[in-house]
Amino acid sequence: MKDSREYLNELAADIATEWDLYRNNQFSSLQASSDDGEAVCYLCLDGGVEESCEPLRRDCACRGTDAGFVHLECLTKYAAAKSVQWDGHEMNEFSNPWHTCPNCHQEYQNYFAVDIATEFVSFVRRQYPDNTPKQVESLYVKLCALMDVFDRVPPVQKREAGVTANVILSFIDRMKNDAPLTRRYSKFEANAHGFHGRIALDEGSEESARRAVVHFERKIELSKAIGDDEGVATAKRNIAQAKSKYEGGRNSTEELLKASQELYELRVAKHGEGNLLTIDSGVIYAVNLQKANRGNEARDFLAKVLETSKQVLGSDHSTTKAVASALSTCRFLFG
Ligand SMILES: [Zn+2]
Ligand SMILES: [Zn+2]
Repeated sequence: MKDSREYLNELAADIATEWDLYRNNQFSSLQASSDDGEAVCYLCLDGGVEESCEPLRRDCACRGTDAGFVHLECLTKYAAAKSVQWDGHEMNEFSNPWHTCPNCHQEYQNYFAVDIATEFVSFVRRQYPDNTPKQVESLYVKLCALMDVFDRVPPVQKREAGVTANVILSFIDRMKNDAPLTRRYSKFEANAHGFHGRIALDEGSEESARRAVVHFERKIELSKAIGDDEGVATAKRNIAQAKSKYEGGRNSTEELLKASQELYELRVAKHGEGNLLTIDSGVIYAVNLQKANRGNEARDFLAKVLETSKQVLGSDHSTTKAVASALSTCRFLFG
């Protein structure tokens, strides 16, 4: 049988081509436009508007016409230097430069997040080919980035997400042979199962929704073992969502609403209202309020979430835009 890494390498060629085609269509919104003539890369201090130059990019919570723009190549060098200097204590600090903006301290978003995560994977393969935890770190950052854009990527990218989750799980199994897993990697393991569930759910059949539930149940089991109540609540909401696909009816709508509310409230308590994850789960909660014919509540709730999102993340942030779009749909449907 083929090693999962070999499979991942084979996929890589196809992915690169399809991904480039796809991303080029999105690109205009990701780079500084020539209107932002003032913008320069905060690392090399060069502009990115000349044709020969790599474009300047930004997709985090940095705002204004100049803050936070960067060349992917410069950011890659910066992050690599940070990871090479890593002191060997908090694994977070090894990975952070590859997914969190050092200026606004928010996570990179969308295709920018995928691209820098892809650089992270190459960096670790080159630099630490025999270090399993570091491989897992980089693949996990990549998987999270892919799952964030999962609804918008071509099928080959969805396959890549599935293969990446498998590779992570096989590496984690290997780590278990050496020593008991730390909480960090137990959480990665739980989340890899959750991602598998979401991938199965996306296939859209009743059979795949049932398969998804098995993955989410595994996530609950693993999350409980490490006392991760947020992991449990997320998986419960996902199960309610999967069941609503094949059970239907009022009961499953109510179950899904309840699970969405519980996850939202738990995140408010844990991370605060202005947290990216809290806001994300707020949007899903509002959508489920609408499904339960509570459109007016959904509208008022979304208006409040939108204000928070504008304040914390800024009006240009993709999450703020997602909240605004959910609110306008809600207003269109419920007045
Ligand atoms: Zn630069
Ligand atoms: Zn930023």
